[in-house]
Amino acid sequence: MIKVYNTLAEKKEEFIPLEKNRIKMYVCGPTVYDDAHIGHARSAIVFDVIRRWFEHRGYEVTFVRNYTDVDDKIIKRANEKGVTWKEVAEKYIKSFEEDMKALNVKEPTVKPKVTEHISEIIEMVKGLIEKGHAYEADGDVYFAVETFPEYGKLSKRKIDELMAGARIAPEEKKRNPLDFALWKKSKEGEPAWDSPWSKGRPGWHIECSAMSMKYLGETMDIHGGGLDLIFPHHENEIAQSESYTGKTFVRYWMHNGFVMVNSEKMSKSLGNFFTIKEILEKFSPDVLRFFLISTHYRSPIDFSFERLREAKAAFERIKNFLNTRTIIENIPQIDSEGSPIDVEKYINSFNEAMDDDFNTAKALGVLFEMVKEANILKDRAVKEQKISLNEKESLLKAAAFIKATMKTLGFKLKEERTANDMEDKLIKLLIDIRQKLRKEKNFKLADEIRDELKEMGIVLEDLPGGTVYRKGD
Ligand code: ZN
Repeated sequence: MIKVYNTLAEKKEEFIPLEKNRIKMYVCGPTVYDDAHIGHARSAIVFDVIRRWFEHRGYEVTFVRNYTDVDDKIIKRANEKGVTWKEVAEKYIKSFEEDMKALNVKEPTVKPKVTEHISEIIEMVKGLIEKGHAYEADGDVYFAVETFPEYGKLSKRKIDELMAGARIAPEEKKRNPLDFALWKKSKEGEPAWDSPWSKGRPGWHIECSAMSMKYLGETMDIHGGGLDLIFPHHENEIAQSESYTGKTFVRYWMHNGFVMVNSEKMSKSLGNFFTIKEILEKFSPDVLRFFLISTHYRSPIDFSFERLREAKAAFERIKNFLNTRTIIENIPQIDSEGSPIDVEKYINSFNEAMDDDFNTAKALGVLFEMVKEANILKDRAVKEQKISLNEKESLLKAAAFIKATMKTLGFKLKEERTANDMEDKLIKLLIDIRQKLRKEKNFKLADEIRDELKEMGIVLEDLPGGTVYRKGD
């Protein structure tokens, strides 16, 4: 039995899908106006691991992740850069897909774009107006929040309390400060589509309702996203979807915690963020994944390079054990009962942790315990050069389980080259070439290589044993 923390119920619940063995899952995707940062990586990896675990447990998962490819931020970016909004969206969709591929995030079943679902969105807005849940005001269409008495049920806010703090901005034509735009009339030069109300574009919230319903039906099993999406985005998705269909929109709402830097949320607006590409220049995708799932998905994560280095060391402890397979196989076997490790016990604890709301932090802890015990046994056997059959079998079984499990969690376990390794190789290649030039008495070119490298902050030192380099001068 898998237990899932449901934000709506504010507790863990037994997970029972609508259809036996099938799961319909939607995760809010990025607004594509810039390179994705670690906050995006966390959401992507958290829901990737959840999906992979469900699949491992025998479910067939239909996974939808959208692209918000028309939005005020995209338009603003385009104006700043002097390019079209479409060029901005396409560029950052491509960038996001590169990141997801590098991070080994499984391809969604569908990746709908807002701009390709305008007619579905218009259809839904029309329906909401007909049912009396939305109204037109000078080309804009707003959802009337007071027509949905359950408003606030996800974020646990009360309409009257929200009202107290809400204001209507001068350019808005809504009746009630809590009402939100379903359709926005476009200004001159902005992207616009024909609609019964104006040449305009959809509001943000309606897109996720329209696209998720198209691919997953009126009721889905899981809707996920970052904690910051609960209000107003997901609250509004519920209001408009349930008003439209009269049915439950989502059965389990799942939200991942923030990535923090120095106790502040990492975000574009605070400028304290690192892009996925920046991190992958220094650390492998496996290390980043390991770092991000070492904390339970609902808890905040403190990000720092120091913590990434620690994650790297921890990840390597596990990988090193997997690399000792041949050593274990070559230890001479003896004919006595040894004391094997209880692999089953670890497997059960691991599965229990994962089934309990995807507690990857605890599950990785189980793997560490297992590696620790296995290493003690292996080291003893290597030292004594003898091992009994059941001990050897337990070690090999442990290694096989850990390897398969890491794959299930989405690790590639390949030797990966970071840009740093690459740089190291390139510098060594230049050093070799310079050596050859010097042998051929081509000192001019050899010195040129040395000087150019120095310009880049890479200093070569000719020592008796050969040339070494250091950085940072
Ligand atoms: Zn969304």
